[in-house]
Amino acid sequence: MEKNKVEGGRLYLVATPIGNLADVSERAVKVLSEVDFIAAEDTRNSGLFLSRLGIRRPLVSYYEHNKASRGPEIADRLEAGESCALISDAGTPAISDPGEDLVRLCAERGIPVSSIPGACAAITALTLSALPTRRFCFEGFIPVSSKERRARLDAIASEERTQIIYEAPHKLRKTLDDLLSVCGGERRIALCRELTKLNEEALRMTLSEAVEYYKEKEPRGEYVLVLEGAPEGADGAVSQMSIREHLEYYISEGISMKDAIKAVAKERGIPKNEVYAESLKMKSE
Ligand code: SAM
Repeated sequence: MEKNKVEGGRLYLVATPIGNLADVSERAVKVLSEVDFIAAEDTRNSGLFLSRLGIRRPLVSYYEHNKASRGPEIADRLEAGESCALISDAGTPAISDPGEDLVRLCAERGIPVSSIPGACAAITALTLSALPTRRFCFEGFIPVSSKERRARLDAIASEERTQIIYEAPHKLRKTLDDLLSVCGGERRIALCRELTKLNEEALRMTLSEAVEYYKEKEPRGEYVLVLEGAPEGADGAVSQMSIREHLEYYISEGISMKDAIKAVAKERGIPKNEVYAESLKMKSE
């Protein structure tokens, strides 16, 4: 039996490079060269990528705004015996892209799916983060609508596992500010940008340092943020505690009021005198 033979009636999820063309696997090239057609999120970008590899297969578009009608059409063709490779704009299909819906549809219709592994920005960033990697969770993009965003940020703040967040450069500052306000300034973060590209960078700092850094520096390129988890057993969401509760927590841990004021101000990213004023009220009661 031929190894890695492409089968009719099967959907292949093919991971493509996230910046460095040399990251495409031999198996990915074979599958892309042999399938009956390729479904791509961005046919223009993917057309260029495929032509650089010398691959010429029919392309159909499959993206967020046509997935509801295009998905069933692709599934019909698969049921009729054709083979299809799904590629996303970059990286692993179905991770923060509409591929997720096509896989669900195929599963519902009993269509076999194979995944050809390769580059994924989330995992690449995690491995570079220098944060714990044994237990982690993937957040993808944090919602923009305020109610959903608030709920997600609070969940992120109290999550104990390392978290992976995708972000666009023009939203980076706002996201760092929001993370600082719920997680406090001491939480560590790795800001990974332009992964696998010439200007790849992994900045490892605390949240308050990151906010300061990007006050001066213009965010550029695509980002993956890898955020340290909340301390085990503690309520990581400082926003869920009042300043007083936050101070009381430290005092109950045997820390002096002076050091508690310093720590609370730093963690909440607020001026020390604001915390000091609260400590005076506590004393006077
Ligand atoms: N399916 C892709 C994957 O496997 O990583 C992710 C698709 S998602 C629509 C695009 C996001 O991935 C970007 O906004 C960015 O957060 C992240 N990303 C993709 N390529 C990247 C790179 N080279 N460097 C840093 N982040 C990247």
